[in-house]
Amino acid sequence: MLREMVRDFVSEFVEPQALEFDRDEKFNLDLLKSLGEMGLLGITASEEHGGAGLDVVATVIVHEELSASDPGFALAYLAHSMLFVNNLEFNGNDSQRARILPKVCSGEWIGAMAMSEPDVGTDVMALSTTAVQREDGSWVLNGRKMWITNGCLDDDGTPADVVWVYAKTGTDVKGKAEISTFLVENGMQGYSVGQKIMDKTGMRASNTAELVFEDCIVPADNLVGEAGDSLIHMMRNLEIERVALAAMSLGIARRSLDEMNKYATDREAFGRQIRDFGQMQRYIGESWAKYRAMRAYIYDTANNMGLGNAGQRLDSDGVKLFATTAAKEIADAAIQVMGGYGYVAEYVVERLWRDSKLLEIGGGTIESHQKNITRDLAKAPEVIND
Ligand SMILES: Cc1cc2nc3c(=O)[nH]c(=O)nc-3n(C[C@H](O)[C@H](O)[C@H](O)COP(=O)(O)OP(=O)(O)OC[C@H]3O[C@@H](n4cnc5c(N)ncnc54)[C@H](O)[C@@H]3O)c2cc1C
Repeated sequence: MLREMVRDFVSEFVEPQALEFDRDEKFNLDLLKSLGEMGLLGITASEEHGGAGLDVVATVIVHEELSASDPGFALAYLAHSMLFVNNLEFNGNDSQRARILPKVCSGEWIGAMAMSEPDVGTDVMALSTTAVQREDGSWVLNGRKMWITNGCLDDDGTPADVVWVYAKTGTDVKGKAEISTFLVENGMQGYSVGQKIMDKTGMRASNTAELVFEDCIVPADNLVGEAGDSLIHMMRNLEIERVALAAMSLGIARRSLDEMNKYATDREAFGRQIRDFGQMQRYIGESWAKYRAMRAYIYDTANNMGLGNAGQRLDSDGVKLFATTAAKEIADAAIQVMGGYGYVAEYVVERLWRDSKLLEIGGGTIESHQKNITRDLAKAPEVIND
């Protein structure tokens, strides 16, 4: 039922705008807000606060369906519903949940998550944004965050209504950074957009921004958990983020395969359908097998994954590692099968190909997944023979 509902919504409202918003590098804020009426903005949030209370499988279905049409729009949805809303549901306290979840589940507020910085991405523990507590308990944040999806909501510098910000609040006895999480809201002094990042290769229908925190005053109540607690927040949420990004890859793969398969029937050359040529069969056949393998691994992982607990990194990294590159390869195969038509926007697959590349970088690079998997298999080699 959920899949059908999202598919209907996508064909009526998402597909007709996808080409234009990619071409113009515009974010369709109203369309994102309208997902609130369907209960999708708080898909994993508790029903008492306006969420849908659904699980990881439901999350995968929604990301797959949105991304099969408009991955840029799906990325904005992911940043809001997973990076902000799901994070708050599982890591915030009761009063933060009661105050903020109804606003972000309805779409009144749009959220973002700010981890990356101009000089720090993969090496997140080296982040340089600081938060210092004042005598009255409030905090002062200083630093810049880079590449923040939904960081700005328009081209006029309106920042996300609320952003989940990681900052350094100290150093432990071993000299390791202590990271804490703050809920920064639009209107708080010292919080602004540095720039909307333009000319992206893909995901152009989502806004990506640099955010500036300059002596930004954050009330004590907006600290999430205890100071220095954030590593566990980060790990919990990165796992669901990676599965959702893999689900976006699945949507790209499915659509690319569908487009190339239809085209291979319609197009003739040398008096035959191009699907009769062995080289075209290799593109289609291999894409089908990769698509089915992605699908099985992603839904299997989603079925076994709990929300809100860490410790499922082998497969959250595994699905993203496999699916993102497979989606890029399948979109590439689609362009090749469709020849010159595949290379222009009207035929969709060139946009999917551009969008797919981000998925090998955002939410952790494919190299970081290789590193994590190899590290985790050293700790628990028995899982290989389970
Ligand atoms: C469109 C877009 C949207 C984004 N949205 C968000 C967002 O909403 N919130 C947010 O916080 N961030 C966001 N990001 C940032 C994204 O998560 C980072 O770009 C990503 O984590 C990589 O960091 P980096 O770009 O600093 O690259 P770096 O970490 O500098 O990496 C550069 C290269 O070095 C490699 N490398 C680094 N360390 C190692 C290592 N130990 N071993 C092997 N190779 C290594 C990397 O794999 C990569 O190939 C977004 C990025 C983009 C482009």
